[in-house]
Amino acid sequence: MADNSSNDLASVIKRRGFIWPSFEMYGGVAGMYDYGPLGCALKNNIIEMWRSIYKGREGFVEIDSETVNPREVFKASGHLDNFADLITYCSKCQAPFRADHLVKDFYDNPDVLTPKQLEEAFVKHNIKCPDCGGDLGPVEEFNLMFRTNIGPGNARVGYMRPETAQGIFVNYANLYRYNRDKLPMGVIQTGRSYRNEIAPRQGMIRMREFNQMEVELFVDPEDKDWVRFPEIENGTLDLIPNTTLELTTMTVKEAVEKKVIANRVLAYFVYTTKQLLLSLGIDEKRLRFREHEMDEMAHYAADCWDAEVLLSYGWTEIVGIADRGNWDLSRHAQFSGQDLTHFKKYDEPRETEVERINPNSKALGPMYKGKAKAISEAISALPPSAIVDGKLKVTVDGEEIELGSEFFEVVKRKEKVSGERVIPHVIEPSHGLDRIFYSILEHAYSYDPEKDYVVLKLAPAVAPIKVGVFPLMEKDGLDTMAKEIYEKVHTSRVEAYYDGSGTIGKRYARMDEVGTPWCITVDYDSLENGTVTIRDRDSTEQKRIPASEVPAIVDALLAGKPFAEL
Ligand code: AMP
Repeated sequence: MADNSSNDLASVIKRRGFIWPSFEMYGGVAGMYDYGPLGCALKNNIIEMWRSIYKGREGFVEIDSETVNPREVFKASGHLDNFADLITYCSKCQAPFRADHLVKDFYDNPDVLTPKQLEEAFVKHNIKCPDCGGDLGPVEEFNLMFRTNIGPGNARVGYMRPETAQGIFVNYANLYRYNRDKLPMGVIQTGRSYRNEIAPRQGMIRMREFNQMEVELFVDPEDKDWVRFPEIENGTLDLIPNTTLELTTMTVKEAVEKKVIANRVLAYFVYTTKQLLLSLGIDEKRLRFREHEMDEMAHYAADCWDAEVLLSYGWTEIVGIADRGNWDLSRHAQFSGQDLTHFKKYDEPRETEVERINPNSKALGPMYKGKAKAISEAISALPPSAIVDGKLKVTVDGEEIELGSEFFEVVKRKEKVSGERVIPHVIEPSHGLDRIFYSILEHAYSYDPEKDYVVLKLAPAVAPIKVGVFPLMEKDGLDTMAKEIYEKVHTSRVEAYYDGSGTIGKRYARMDEVGTPWCITVDYDSLENGTVTIRDRDSTEQKRIPASEVPAIVDALLAGKPFAEL
């Protein structure tokens, strides 16, 4: 958010109640913002459009999980050990800095440098504290999670979630049951995430408390296709593959055939992301998809693409779309001991050689007498992987019994099996809601020096106010008629705004500045013949329409009817 002239975007969004820096009366906190009334409406409209694609079109289910999670969750997810940025403090003024940001003029990808390499870079390029010119101290890891205690004392350590995704992974077993043990299974979640960013200086791009809209799609590892792929295969994408690092435009089909995008399901959701962003009002010319470079990609990821938009800050990631392999579920299965698999049924039962444990009744009977039968059954139920150091543990009537190898044997036999257990792979489109919100505003921003005010050319579907309703004057019954129209058109789905003060020009300007697509004006002719004018924000064209038809006409415009066809 740039300078402060009243016509710049930062000033408009603050003055008109989109976004306010949080706690401003107490000096503010970097990286924290509140959504005002118009911002809240715009944000909710974005969420609704995201839902309409993922819940509506794709039939995914939505959950809402906890924001405070116990430590175990992030031990398993890897955040506890790896979710860190590299920090350095000025040895003179103690100001903290992200070490990689300080060297960004000298390296293309500074976030892959090690602490030692960064310290060497400070010396080599004579980099000092940007605030006071002092020497920079050692480079260390700084974990970005906010830590807290769950309950009194510190018996149970908790962390604020750094992403909403984990809430979906830890509920996999519940969700799988809910989905009646079927794949593919799509789950979405929107809500707050928390990252204790070292030095947030880029407005809504880097926040400490932010909003995500995440989608986790669980698929069979051997079936990475999508049923609706043929519908979009001829759509085009602007891609920067990590093999060439050059921008190329190709169809989704070509991208898969040339192995630019790893598989059809990932490609489908890269294209879905483009569809969503365009429908939200992102400018197609300022949108591209960049593949993570090999040293940037998580080691478990099969492929990862960022939707980047061009902002005043430069090209900025707003959505990440990744094929995460089976990393998330296998880690949570390992750390929790729970079965997080999918039973993949074969079309026909297959004869396979399997290993089983056979109890040795001759040895069990004399030793365990009355309990021998129950022990024998418990042994048969265990897989060979349960044998540790040649021994098996079984629990019978609450008693744990350790059995030496004389009580069982591993045998191979041919069995007809109806399927196998696989750990699903995860395809994840992860949307930064605040970044999308801000990008929409930047791309909608236009300034007309003749009129000398800002017009936000927001897509009608996201515009916080859909229609302004004005009486030409607040007298002679014009106001009564305008209020009646307002009452009819203002619903939970269509937000209308009544404005009777100031000149009509000023009222249009106020609505243009917050992106309201249409305005209705009641004038003296309205009293005579029951018609009103409707004005289109972008063309400023005006037409007369029957007052009684205003709600239906606004509905039709919102459904996509061109203004010119009214
Ligand atoms: P990540 O898990 O880092 O890939 O983040 C997922 C999405 O969340 C990114 O594409 C960003 O749009 C968004 N995001 C990540 N960190 C922040 C932040 N500190 N402030 C605002 N949005 C963020």
